[in-house]
Amino acid sequence: MNTQIIDGKLIAETIKSELKNKVLTLKEQSITPGLAVILVGENPASQVYVNNKKKACEYVGMKSFSYELPAQTSEKEVLDLVETLNNDNHVHGILVQLPLPKHMDEQKIILKIDPAKDVDGFHPQNVGALSIGLEGLVSCTPAGVIELLKRSEIEIAGKHCVVVGRSNIVGKPVSLLLLREHATVTICHSRTKNLETVLKQADIVIAAVGITKFITGSMLKPGVVVIDVGINRDENGKLCGDVDFKSCQSVASHITPVPGGVGPMTIAMLMHNCVLAATNQGGASN
Ligand code: NDP
Repeated sequence: MNTQIIDGKLIAETIKSELKNKVLTLKEQSITPGLAVILVGENPASQVYVNNKKKACEYVGMKSFSYELPAQTSEKEVLDLVETLNNDNHVHGILVQLPLPKHMDEQKIILKIDPAKDVDGFHPQNVGALSIGLEGLVSCTPAGVIELLKRSEIEIAGKHCVVVGRSNIVGKPVSLLLLREHATVTICHSRTKNLETVLKQADIVIAAVGITKFITGSMLKPGVVVIDVGINRDENGKLCGDVDFKSCQSVASHITPVPGGVGPMTIAMLMHNCVLAATNQGGASN
């Protein structure tokens, strides 16, 4: 099989370059998109994500406002900060880096974010908009998956897409987006019976399970498109996905690697959401 490896890094760079131009246009209208990132506690992985987000903002010409708070910060202090940022017209996007410390109610904090500034797309208003086909901010990783497919010229309409995973962050929203693109969608999860039989029928597989090398080539139909959302570590501590790349590559027509597939798209789509939010809100001065 002449398999095409989808280069998520390259596609993400292209998106960020396009956004650079959009930011320049907004700046001509005296609008500089601004992203506020709230990080509570000293989770090393979260710190890496937050730094990458700051760098991406700089690259596309946006402002970033960083709030790095100690782990013992109270829920009320975070809610008050979100309220302040909701009312700050230099801030067009607000992102609360998850997970939060255990003494905080994540849902309560997400609910506090102005849906127009909810660039993670986690607010129930944006989730609801997605499910009934209204405009809204779509969460970044699922939006990145769709963008990867489209920019790789993979037709989605009429295709049987099997999504493995039903989380609120990946599985469910990506399923809704695929449906919006007119795919026939099957959602699988830990209680799915005969997963292999279902997978064998897929034209496009989206793996969002969180288990190292869970999907192998023998489970798939030749010519399938494989999108691996997973970010795991293998037995040697090496970054790997939910898909066994080697065996799946031999049957797939297209496949995403880990790293360098879906991962870089998440940040690119976050920048996209910030620019969209700034465009929708307008008004803030440079
Ligand atoms: P969750 O743990 O929230 O969800 C995992 C899903 O997989 C659940 O719906 C679960 O089913 C299902 N599942 C678990 N075991 C099985 C099984 N044996 N058979 C079928 N389904 C199963 O994970 P997330 O959705 O948050 O993340 C999934 C992966 O994507 C992770 O590796 C994560 O690190 C990665 N990720 C990557 C991002 C990126 O930027 N590339 C962003 C976000 C996540 P059930 O609901 O029944 O428990």
